Amino acid sequence: MNILLLGSGGREHALALKMSQSTLCGQLFIAPGNAGTAQCGTNVNMGVSEFEKIKTFCLENAIDLVLPGSEEALVNGIYDFFQQDAAIKHIPVLGPSKEGAQLEGSKAYGKLFMERHHIPTAAYREFSAQNYEEGLAYLQQHSLPIVLKADGLAAGKGVVIAATYEEAAEEFEQMIKSAKFGDASKTVVVEQFLTGIELSVFAITDGHTYKILPEAKDYKRIGEGDLGLNTGGMGAVSPVPFADAAFMQKVEEEVIKPTIAGLSKEGIVYYGFVFFGLINVEGSPFVIEYNCRMGDPETEVVMPRLKNDVLELFQATVSGKLSEQTIYADERAASTVMLVSGGYPEAYEKNKVIKGIPAPTRDQIVFHAGTRQEGDEVLTNGGRVLAITSLAADLSMALAHSVQTAEQIAFDGKVYRRDIGYEFI
Ligand code: ATP
Repeated sequence: MNILLLGSGGREHALALKMSQSTLCGQLFIAPGNAGTAQCGTNVNMGVSEFEKIKTFCLENAIDLVLPGSEEALVNGIYDFFQQDAAIKHIPVLGPSKEGAQLEGSKAYGKLFMERHHIPTAAYREFSAQNYEEGLAYLQQHSLPIVLKADGLAAGKGVVIAATYEEAAEEFEQMIKSAKFGDASKTVVVEQFLTGIELSVFAITDGHTYKILPEAKDYKRIGEGDLGLNTGGMGAVSPVPFADAAFMQKVEEEVIKPTIAGLSKEGIVYYGFVFFGLINVEGSPFVIEYNCRMGDPETEVVMPRLKNDVLELFQATVSGKLSEQTIYADERAASTVMLVSGGYPEAYEKNKVIKGIPAPTRDQIVFHAGTRQEGDEVLTNGGRVLAITSLAADLSMALAHSVQTAEQIAFDGKVYRRDIGYEFI
């Protein structure tokens, strides 16, 4: 089968590599891709939300499956775009409908969905310009700290944890009255602060049945010891030691089952990944957020641990045969360490020459994120540059191997964390 994968991050390189290893893989195209995806298939110069161009490309290249890597195309309605056009209706899109993508696209929608299906999550209220004064009064009675979330997509920056009432009121005002995140913060979700350790659980679904993939934990802060600014993610580990059979049983019963049953009951069309951003509060899982795609950098540890033929799994998903599949995970532990550009997540420079990327082995793969090829050289092309994933008998050995390679790869301004998975080592 011929595949079109949309995106250009480390997640897409990990997905592209996995798909290229499938016996079912015909031609693999990645739009727009990066220097790493170009080693797994053909990069195509096309944006992930250029739906008309994507349609023409799919028809001209006999594409059999479209896989959007990030939420962007999904929230913009790529699934519905294909369904509503007779010329491309037959091409499956592995992702939710526009409505299903609202689980991620609108935090208020996600919260209401959880409420309807009794899925454990933080207590909350939703406010906008209409009930602004009521919101201000509500904040005053709230316990500290207060979590404020812009309803819409805000590039991972729309969540503020206010330590004081003054800060909460100021944020609230900026989000609603001064459109701090544009339309995304016209509505604000104010919620209870939960204390615990976070993890990411992934399922693949056809909207009725599901399979659980290996779980992961990501590390968002720029600095070691989880200090400093939030980033897209500085590394990840899989498995997550506290996610033992008993905990995962609770996750399945209390979170995954009611979510998929809720989609099915409400007739929400959903093919593809569900990402459950969870927090373990004294042994009980609570949902912090839903995402309608895989995580980045979590994909860089989940895909290498997945032993299944991934295209067989995808094909089963879009053809309603998912229940026949069994997920097989590599017993080894995986750790990925992200190399980022100096200055990231604030201003940084691009176009630095990267040297010393080793060839993949059985126990290490360097995934490309913000890179591009120019002649014989690979150049930096983003904040997050490379994700070094190692597999080993335990997390500490996997991390040591990734850090060793992180030292060897060279580019101007390289920054990385040496403590990915530190709580478990
Ligand atoms: P991203 O897309 O980067 O994962 P986001 O902008 O969609 O993030 P959330 O994942 O909902 O936002 O929240 C970001 C982070 O804020 C969470 O990973 C978590 O650390 C923290 N957070 C969110 N909600 C709560 C809460 N109720 N209690 C404690 N911490 C929270």
